[in-house]
This record gives sequence, C-alpha cells and structure tokens, in this order.
Amino acid sequence: MTASNRYADFYRRSIDQRDEFWAEQAELIEWQTPPQQVCDASNPPFARWFVGGRTNLCHNAVDRHARDHASRRALIWVSTETGQEKVYSFAELQAEVERMAAIMLAQGVQRGDRVLVYMPMIPEAAFAMLACARIGAIHSVVFGGFASVSLAQRIDDAAPKLIVSADAGSRSGKVVPYKHLLDEAIKLATHKPARVLMVNRGLAEMSRVDGRDLDYAAERERHLNERVPCAWLESNEVSYTLYTSGTTGRPKGVQRDVGGYAVALAASMKHIFCAKPGETYFSTSDIGWVVGHSYIIYGPLLAGMATVMYEGLPTRPDAGIWWQLVEKYKVSVMFSAPTAVRVLKKSDPAFLAKYDLSSLQALFLAGEPLDEPTARWISEGIGRPIIDNYWQTETGWPILTVANGVESAKSKFGSPGKAMYGFDMKLVDENTGEDIAGAHQKGLLAIAHPLPPGCLQTVWGDDERFVKTYWTSIPGRQLYSTFDWGVRDEEGYYFILGRSDDVINVAGHRLGTREIEESLSSHPNVAEVAVVGVADQLKGQVAMAFVVLKDPTKAATPEEALRHEGEIIKRVDEQLGAVARPARVRFVTVLPKTRSGKLLRRALQAVCEGRDPGDLSTIEDPTALAQVKALFA
Ligand code: AMP
Repeated sequence: MTASNRYADFYRRSIDQRDEFWAEQAELIEWQTPPQQVCDASNPPFARWFVGGRTNLCHNAVDRHARDHASRRALIWVSTETGQEKVYSFAELQAEVERMAAIMLAQGVQRGDRVLVYMPMIPEAAFAMLACARIGAIHSVVFGGFASVSLAQRIDDAAPKLIVSADAGSRSGKVVPYKHLLDEAIKLATHKPARVLMVNRGLAEMSRVDGRDLDYAAERERHLNERVPCAWLESNEVSYTLYTSGTTGRPKGVQRDVGGYAVALAASMKHIFCAKPGETYFSTSDIGWVVGHSYIIYGPLLAGMATVMYEGLPTRPDAGIWWQLVEKYKVSVMFSAPTAVRVLKKSDPAFLAKYDLSSLQALFLAGEPLDEPTARWISEGIGRPIIDNYWQTETGWPILTVANGVESAKSKFGSPGKAMYGFDMKLVDENTGEDIAGAHQKGLLAIAHPLPPGCLQTVWGDDERFVKTYWTSIPGRQLYSTFDWGVRDEEGYYFILGRSDDVINVAGHRLGTREIEESLSSHPNVAEVAVVGVADQLKGQVAMAFVVLKDPTKAATPEEALRHEGEIIKRVDEQLGAVARPARVRFVTVLPKTRSGKLLRRALQAVCEGRDPGDLSTIEDPTALAQVKALFA
C-alpha cells in the first residue's frame, strides 16, 4: 500500500467492511464480556453497537489505568478564578469517584436513574460524571451558565433522582452563585428530585432545604473508605443525555450508549488526536458541552492521558495563561474553539512566544467555522499545526477532520477536512435528495445509516422525535441530516457553509432562535418577536432580536427605548442565562413575513448583514425590511 492512499483505504474499510473494522477498534477498550454482534442495523434509523458486550466507561477511563499506572497523573485541575491547582493521580481519581459513587448509592440512585449535574468547572463535577458511569446511572450535565427556566426544562425532561451542584462558579473574578437558580428551577419544574448534593466551595451563601439538600464534604467523609465496583453494563445501556438546541423551544436530550461511545472515543484518540498514554491533554471547553464530555472527561482518560480541567478565562491573569499551562504540564494535545482564539488575538502576540510549547503536537479547534485569518494568526504564533474539526453534540466525535494517526494529511484553510472513518457522508441536493456529484457544488451534509459508534442512540424519551427531526428531512431517502450546508472539493475536503435551520452559533455555542424568542415573548409588552443570527467578528454570530411592542409609547424616546431594551433582554438573562442573551433588541412596527404569515428569517438576516435579501415577491409588507435596513444604515 502506498503512503498516499492509506487513509482512503482505512475509510473505505470502515464503510465496506464495517463490522470487521469496528471489531478491531473495540479492542482499544476492555470488555468484561466481549460483544456478540458488532452492529445491529436491522431497525433503521436506529443502530445498536457491540451488542451483548459488557463494559464500563469508568473502568476504562479510570480503573484500568489506576491498576496499571496508579501514580500517573489523571486529572489536573487549575482555577485561575480561585487561585487553586490540584493534581489527582489515577489512583486518587478512582478513590474520589468511588466516594462519590458511594454517596449516590446511599441516596438510592440505581442503574438507569438520572443524575443531573449543574456545576462549575471543579473536580467534583468530573467525579460526579464518572461516578454515574461507574454505577450505571445516567448523567445529564447542564451548562452552569444556564439560568432557571433552561434548567427547569431539563429537570423535567431528565426527571433526575439526584442533582449534584455547587454554591457558585466564578467568572472573571466575580462569583456567580448557583444555588438560588437551582432552587428556583426546582420550584418551576414539575419533577422534584429527591436529593440535592451541594459542593460548598465557600464562595457564596446557600440556603438549605431540610430533608432534600446534602452537604458533599460531610457525605464524602461518611463514605471515605467505601469501595464501589464498576457495574458491567450492556453496551447499549445509556451512559448520558446532553441537551442541545434545535428549531423548537424545547431542547433535545441527545442520548448516548456505553460501549459504542467508549470505542468511538478511544479510536478517535488514536487516529485523530494521536494521543499517547502518560501525556497531557488540555481542552479549554466546559463540561456542560459535548466537547467537555468527550474531550475533557472521557476521551483523554480512556487514552490513559492526564486531562487539564481549567476554570477561568483565556486572558486572566494575562493572555499567556493557556501557554503557561502547556509549558508547566507538558501538554501534547490541545482543544479549543475559534472564538477563544479570536479573544486572544486582541492581546499582545508576544504571549504566544513567551513559553516553551515544544511538548505541543497540535491545537484542535471546533464548534464553529474557523476563519482563515484566525487560523493563520494562531498557527504562526505558536508554530504548531492547527487542526479544524467539524462535528455536533449528536455525533460525539469529529465527522470531518484529518486523521493524522492513520496517515499524515495536509490541512486546507477553511476546510475542517475529510469524512472521518465510520461516517458514510453524503452531500445531497435539498430538493431532490440526490447525491451531488460535482466538486464545489453546494448541498446538505448528510450521513447514511447506520451512524458510527458514539453517535446519539435516540432523543431521550422520544424515539419519534429522533426519527422525525434527523431522518426525514431529505426527500426520498432516509439519511441523517446535519442541517449544515457544505461543498466538497476534488480531493474530498469539505467546506462548511452554515446551518440550514434556525439554529445559530454564538461563540461556538449552539442556540435555538426559538428558545430566545419564547423568552423575549414572556415580557408583557412584547407582541411579536423574531431572533436571527448575525455575523460577528468575535463570536462568529450573535443573536439579534426584532420586537414589535404592544405599547410602543413605552419606547418613544431614545432613552426610553434603551431602558426598555435592557428590561426585555433581562428576561433572557434570568430565564435562559447570559449565554443566550441577544446582542441587541431592536424595535420595529412590523416583522417581515410572507402573506401566509411565515417569518422571512433569511431575508431579515441578510439585511442585518448588509447582503441582498433575495426574492421578496411573497412579502406581505415591504416596509418591514425597510425599517430593519434603516436601523443598520
Ligand atoms: P454543537 O452541537 O453545539 O457542537 O454544534 C454543532 C454545529 O456547530 C454544527 O452543526 C455546525 O453548524 C457548527 N460547527 C461545529 N464545528 C464546526 C467547524 N469545525 N466548522 C464549521 N462549523 C462547525
């Protein structure tokens, strides 16, 4: 085999000899009982991987390394918010996870029960996730930046027996209290968790609900020496759910299995991240997002690497902090998002050259389009390869990138790369569903059944929604839609051209415009509202809201309008959290709609971005866009 077709062959084998290919990958993890069947694809669009196999994510991520390399670093926690730093070896991590697992068991948490984790970036969050994996409970991590309404929705959907939380997070030196948001969310939710386990960092006051709230330090003490074995789970049992936004106001619980996820991550660590046991991985994401699940917690630990869990900003105490950590902990693989790099770009580039980065093999960036100037700036600044990778909460690991662990491949600016092994990629015409054969022709990115291991099994509690949302939108074919537009070049490199639905991407975070609209609508003076994503230099996109007021006299003067805008935006802060906050709320007297009442979102977005709004023959009131144009003039 020549060097030039090694990846092509690897990819083809993953599709044409699927079972053989994945059976080999399955050897990257330990099984208590080996699988009897590699893939059960008999009930499309569902797929079951490694059927009959019994394994455990925590065993593979923690115990087997504690057994073989007890004193090796596992978790490196750094908080520049509180000035703390703590390193746990694999043996120490296992002991903490067992304590957490013992607490959960003592509170009646059983296999299959849900545990909701609403926490800042502290080690206890990792212990909680791994403890769930250990006993077969299903974790559902909710990003700490979400507020009470978002949290309540997720509590109702997951119906957790236990919630694990903390008194507060901290951002830019400012304490962000959690407990009152959690109490408010539980009040709003119909489902009431039996127990709430609180980690007290001593950052914020907490009120205590008797009989429900438990103190983590006291419970840990009580279970200090308890041993909790890993539960051997069938590969297709549920490891976790993670909520993500779509086109409705109701977030979807992306549900993942145990064995498929473990194999997929272990394989990605080898083939994509070129990970080596004993080295250090540093992902700057948050455990509340999929990158945090796959590449702060599970992926690096499965590979026997130390993982850096970082609480803080990329620019505090100064813009050299990340690189200082790379030097100090000899980080070999780093993972971040383009937005974070764009934030760094505002600081002195001398910070990039201040530290010894010789341990670093590559910086992976994902979550949003990586623009060429940002990619060039960082790659020249740190002198290391930058690897763009494209994926989604649903897939759990990269769909498109380059697999340097299989064959070193060139990267192309503007392209995340080629289809990864296991993903039977299709680029299709949105109207006919037919494959797009030619290079550089725009189509929808889709994936043929079965999705590879590690991808979502279904939407939690709603198989019908899984089928309807993801598998029915391409005419005439049952294909998984990514809802992203793209093109492919002659060499099989893809270029992403943006979402085909109403999902927007703010600083690498996926937000549903519908959720923001619903929150803004709850203000008593809002008659109608439209939210669109508008291009932004720093965040990629920001949410821009257009509101028709019931009583416009409340915003008659510019001062009143500004005050009213602030008041309306506050709704989003309180209900969804600051992550979802629109950049602006602009007042108009009419929204651009078709005569049948459909909002002309793309036209609205185009006008905001100074582009041609396209065909407007169906618009009901042409003055609507003129108003928006005037606002942006
Ligand atoms: P999330 O599930 O929140 O990670 O969001 C996934 C979406 O983010 C994808 O469907 C894309 O729209 C976008 N996305 C993620 N990674 C990339 C990338 N490398 N390039 C372009 N868009 C990306």
